[in-house]
Amino acid sequence: MLTSKTSNGPMNGRRIEDTIMDLLEEDPTNEGILLQKIQSHHAHDESHIYANLLKVLTSLDIPESEAKEIWDEVSANQTKLSNCLGREVGFRVALLDYFINHNQKIENPKIIEIRLFAETEKLILVDELTRLYNRRHFETALVREFKQASRYNQNLSLLVIDIDDFKKINDTYGHLMGDEILKQVAGKISTSLRMEDTACRIGGEEFAIIFPQSNEEQAMKAGEKLLQACRTIQISGKPVTISGGLVSYPDKAKRCEEMYDLADRALYSAKDSGKNQIVAFSNEKRSSLRFDANLELYCVLPDKTIRSISKNISITGIAFETEDDLNLNDSIPVVLKEVDSQHEINAKIKVVRKQKLSGKIFSVGAEFVELSSESQGKLSDLYLLHQFKAKAPIGVV
Ligand code: GH3
Ligand code: MG
Ligand code: MG
Repeated sequence: MLTSKTSNGPMNGRRIEDTIMDLLEEDPTNEGILLQKIQSHHAHDESHIYANLLKVLTSLDIPESEAKEIWDEVSANQTKLSNCLGREVGFRVALLDYFINHNQKIENPKIIEIRLFAETEKLILVDELTRLYNRRHFETALVREFKQASRYNQNLSLLVIDIDDFKKINDTYGHLMGDEILKQVAGKISTSLRMEDTACRIGGEEFAIIFPQSNEEQAMKAGEKLLQACRTIQISGKPVTISGGLVSYPDKAKRCEEMYDLADRALYSAKDSGKNQIVAFSNEKRSSLRFDANLELYCVLPDKTIRSISKNISITGIAFETEDDLNLNDSIPVVLKEVDSQHEINAKIKVVRKQKLSGKIFSVGAEFVELSSESQGKLSDLYLLHQFKAKAPIGVV
């Protein structure tokens, strides 16, 4: 049994791909009216209909505008073939002829039953031990759900779970018992979720659950329920416990790429503060995270632009040295750049601290007074990158 049910997608019920599969199963020979039916089923969202149709029929990833063009050309090809043969030629026959003889996107096609293909495709994405989706699926599912959430202004939460003291379980009771516990935890995860949630085993004893259309509070409730459910699994009378890290878009995470890292950091807080609990990622923690980064800083003053190199930086502020005697409380537009990089972060700072060092140099502390969520996202990425590179202890501003 597949325990995670992504067949029910995030947006207003079913995903287009699933509707297409069902319609094809209902009436395999009448693909001609497929488009009409899909349009009526998904009238609220027609933006990827042709790309989805071709994805199901050919497994090719084709952008929507090109997919529409191809669809029209195949329809014309179907009419032409039907006229030549003097009998009705199916859309898929015309599609195969089109891709082999007119537009060689498929060089060496294989004919396979559509359900069989879908099932084989799923097998590659499923973890054998727990029957949950694997890490590969997790990565694509998270990107897909994030795109949906940002496109339709919806919430999205990610919970990363890790079994507590699992090594001890293995060491005390053996690997087979360890495997059994993994299966049982996976079972609890899948039975405690909604149809539209996606559960994956992303590492040894680490799981991730994607909650579409759920804010932090809702996902926390689901996580607590799961925590309770796992405690009913017992070894020698002792409950199995798990810890979790939660992050939600758009409240805490702004970008898809940071979701896992932020949830993972929250998971570490849960472990650090005693395990057997779920901790939500907190912006306050992020805002006080400071890291040393030698970024180029350009302060755009009314009469000139001055260049400096940052000493350290956080989401709330920046420290740097300059020969210019900046005024306290001055608001200054700035551009931050990583040395040798094209990427820029635009912001406005307010000078809050100034100290004269030896010679003509001033040490300046400034707060960010305008930092777009995009720039905040870039700063978070930089932070993660520096943390990864340096594995340095984190300071607090
Ligand atoms: P913590 O509470 O901090 O998470 O401690 P822990 O002991 O759970 O964490 P640690 O990362 O030290 O140990 C994880 C263990 O999970 C080590 C590894 O042998 C075991 N493990 C990983 N994959 C499997 C698996 O498929 N089956 C079994 N039985 N054990 C596994
Ligand atoms: Mg672990
Ligand atoms: Mg563990």
